[in-house]
Amino acid sequence: MIIVMKPDVLPSSEEVREVLHMAERFPDVSTEVRNIQGATRVLTEIYLLGSTGTIPAEPFEEFPAVERVIRIRERYRAIGRHEGQAEALGFEFQGLSFGQDSFHLFPGLCAVDNRENLESMFSALREVGVTTARAGAYKPRTSPYDFQGLGANCLPFVFESAGSHGIRVISMEVTHESHVDEIHTALTDAGQPVGVMLQVGTRNAQNFELLKYIGSQMEFPVLYKRGMGITLEESLNACEYLATGGNHRIVFGLRGMKSNLGDPHRNFVDFAHVPVVKRLTRLPVCIDPSHSVGKKTVASDGLLDIHHVTAQGIIVGANMVLVDFHPRPEDALCDGPQALLIEELEHFVEDAKLVRASYEARLRLKRAPIP
Ligand code: PEP
Ligand code: MN
Repeated sequence: MIIVMKPDVLPSSEEVREVLHMAERFPDVSTEVRNIQGATRVLTEIYLLGSTGTIPAEPFEEFPAVERVIRIRERYRAIGRHEGQAEALGFEFQGLSFGQDSFHLFPGLCAVDNRENLESMFSALREVGVTTARAGAYKPRTSPYDFQGLGANCLPFVFESAGSHGIRVISMEVTHESHVDEIHTALTDAGQPVGVMLQVGTRNAQNFELLKYIGSQMEFPVLYKRGMGITLEESLNACEYLATGGNHRIVFGLRGMKSNLGDPHRNFVDFAHVPVVKRLTRLPVCIDPSHSVGKKTVASDGLLDIHHVTAQGIIVGANMVLVDFHPRPEDALCDGPQALLIEELEHFVEDAKLVRASYEARLRLKRAPIP
């Protein structure tokens, strides 16, 4: 059961103490007070945990400082959208908002290979007015003989270059808890020129110890990518490990499912799940068309399959798009075949904006139907 307090009621307030006191009257129930950054306001929520099935809502609803009482389903306690819970779990980061209504493009290098390519990428982003990017330093690779990323060595120049090109947030995968610490140290040394969103890749979707570690730090928000070979429910449950650690600044990423049924795409594109995840949870949702499609095949109408699936994700409400670019994909040390060219960036950005505008027009049409 969640007791949502009215706006501006702080966790340390007398009002919260009164509710906790009432909760103590019920046996086998423990309480937890959480301060949640919603999309539009900061909320204090009191969680009653344990045998809450028979606890009546009324005594709690009667407190003037209580906004409402929500009975939570067993599933997705922390990230779920429970009955009557309209507020999405958005967050502000680096002056940008991330929520179920926001929209951000994160184009960039799958893996940083050298400073020159990184700077070409960031310069191109600046030209099209994009201030959010992907840039991989730690790459989990299927073969140990493949390029594993430049790791901590590239962090100083990645952060410095991002800052000098006006990039505000970088999405960067981590595969081990030490990487989080390395990023923290490099950002501190560089004077915090950029913010980092930690990416949990599909291969670590059920690495519970890593999830607990990332969930218990509050410095970085997280982009959690769905597991490629597990159910959506299993991925959402794994994502709970982040939120139960206390870090609610989570974006849920769809990147396709590993299945031959998706051939000839690299993965079976799952962007129909964007509205499903937005309904089941209160998290913003990201799509990754590059790792879903995996190649630059052109459809008969002249658009790339990557463009088409991007549009499919945006038209159903995706809040973030992670997409691979590279100045010279033929030389890229990781995932070159799926990387778009820098010269293709402007078209990609315009195309994405066009589809986002259509999505927003669809919402207006639904709210005020044609008479
Ligand atoms: C990536 O985004 O670089 C990546 C490895 O993606 P995924 O974990 O979805 O395969
Ligand atoms: Mn990749």
